[in-house]
Amino acid sequence: MNEAPVLVLNAGSSSLKYQLVVPETAEVQAKGIIERIGEQGSPIADHDAALQAMQDQLVAADVDLDAVGLRAVGHRVVHGGPEFSDPTIIDDDVLAEIKDLIPLAPLHNPGAVSGIEAARAEFDVPHVAIFDTAFFSTLPLAAATYAIPRDLAQKYRIRRYGFHGTSHQFISRAAAELVGRDLGELNQIVLHLGNGCSASAVRGGVAVETSMGLTPLQGLVMGTRSGDIDPGLHTFLHNELGMSIGDIDTLLNKQSGLKGLSGVNDFRELEQRRAAGDEGAQLAFEVYVHRLKHYVGAYLALLGRLDVLSFTAGVGENSPALRAAVIEGLDGLGFGVDSELNGERSTVARVISPDRAPIAIAVIPTNEELAIARETAELLESRSD
Ligand code: ADP
Repeated sequence: MNEAPVLVLNAGSSSLKYQLVVPETAEVQAKGIIERIGEQGSPIADHDAALQAMQDQLVAADVDLDAVGLRAVGHRVVHGGPEFSDPTIIDDDVLAEIKDLIPLAPLHNPGAVSGIEAARAEFDVPHVAIFDTAFFSTLPLAAATYAIPRDLAQKYRIRRYGFHGTSHQFISRAAAELVGRDLGELNQIVLHLGNGCSASAVRGGVAVETSMGLTPLQGLVMGTRSGDIDPGLHTFLHNELGMSIGDIDTLLNKQSGLKGLSGVNDFRELEQRRAAGDEGAQLAFEVYVHRLKHYVGAYLALLGRLDVLSFTAGVGENSPALRAAVIEGLDGLGFGVDSELNGERSTVARVISPDRAPIAIAVIPTNEELAIARETAELLESRSD
C-alpha cells in the first residue's frame, strides 16, 4: 500500500491551513494553520512566506517532507465556475482558468491562486485542484438557473453553483455506508452546519439541489452570513441609508446571521446565552431552525421520498438541541429521533433515529481534508493505470 502522504492546502486570502494526511489510512502526520498573511505588521508577507512558515512548523514537529516522500499536493479551491466538475491536475492552463474565475469568487479564489503558485514553486510533485463547487455541477438546470434575463446570465456565468461540495459528497457516501445500503438507491438530505451552513438534496449519489448559490451567501442562516433575504433589501439599504454595494456586501457576509441577531456567531456561546434567557439568542436559534425546516421540507418535496437525513460540521455534529429542534413536529413526515441516541456525545458516525424508522437520521463527522487527499490520490491513480 502507498503510505506516502498528500499535503492538503486550504489557502485563503489571509490564512493557510495545511494537513499532511495519508489517504488510505486517514493518518494525519501534521497539521496547522498560518494566519495574518499580508496583514499590517505581520511577519508573513505573502503566501510564499506562509509556505516557508509551514515548513518551519513541520521541521519543528520533526516531520521531514523528503523522508515521508510527499505524493502530491491537493488544493482546496472554492469556485470552479462552469468549467470544473471534477478534481483536476493543475498545469499553467488550469491555473489561468482558476484566475479567470476570480470575478465569481473575489473573496476566495485569489487566496487559492496565491497558494497554488507558491506551492508549485516549492514542491515538485503533482498538484491537484479540488473544487468546492464540483459536486454540484450535476444540479438540474431548473435548480441551477436564476430567473433573470438569460443572455445576461450566460454572458457572465451567473447561476447557482453551490459550495461545501467536498463535504456533501463525503457525507452522502459515508451515510450510505453507515446504513449499509447502496448509494445508488438512496435519496438523501445533508445538512452541513459549521460557520458556513448549507443543505443539499442527493439522489442516488448525485446532487440535485443545494442551498448556496452564485456565492456562499445564499440559503441557510450562518454564523455571520444572512443566507436568503429579499434581493430588494439592497435597494432599500441604498436608498434609505445611502449604503454602498460594498457596505451591503460586508453587512450581509460579516455582520448578519447568528451574529447579527444575537451578537455572537459561535453556536456554543449562542446556546449558553439562550439557556440564560437571552432574547436575541432565542430568536437567532428560532430563525436558524425555521430556515432549516424550510429547506428540509423543500427537499423532501423535490426528492419525493427520503431515506437518510445527515447532520454534519461543528453545529450539526455537536448540538443535540439543534438537531432535536429541526426534527420536532415532523413525525407525520417520517422523521423522528431517539432522544437518548441524540444526546450521546460521540465523534463517530451514528444513526440517531429509532430502529426501523422510515427515515434514518444520522450524525456524521465531516473531514474535508481527508476527502481532498482521497480525491487527489484517486485522480493520480486513475491516470497511472
Ligand atoms: P467551519 O465552517 O469554520 O469549518 P466548524 O465546522 O468547525 O466550522 O463549525 C464551527 C461551529 O460549530 C461554531 O459555531 C461552533 O460554536 C460550533 N460548535 C462546535 N462545537 C460545538 C458544540 N459542542 N456545541 C455546539 N456547537 C458547537
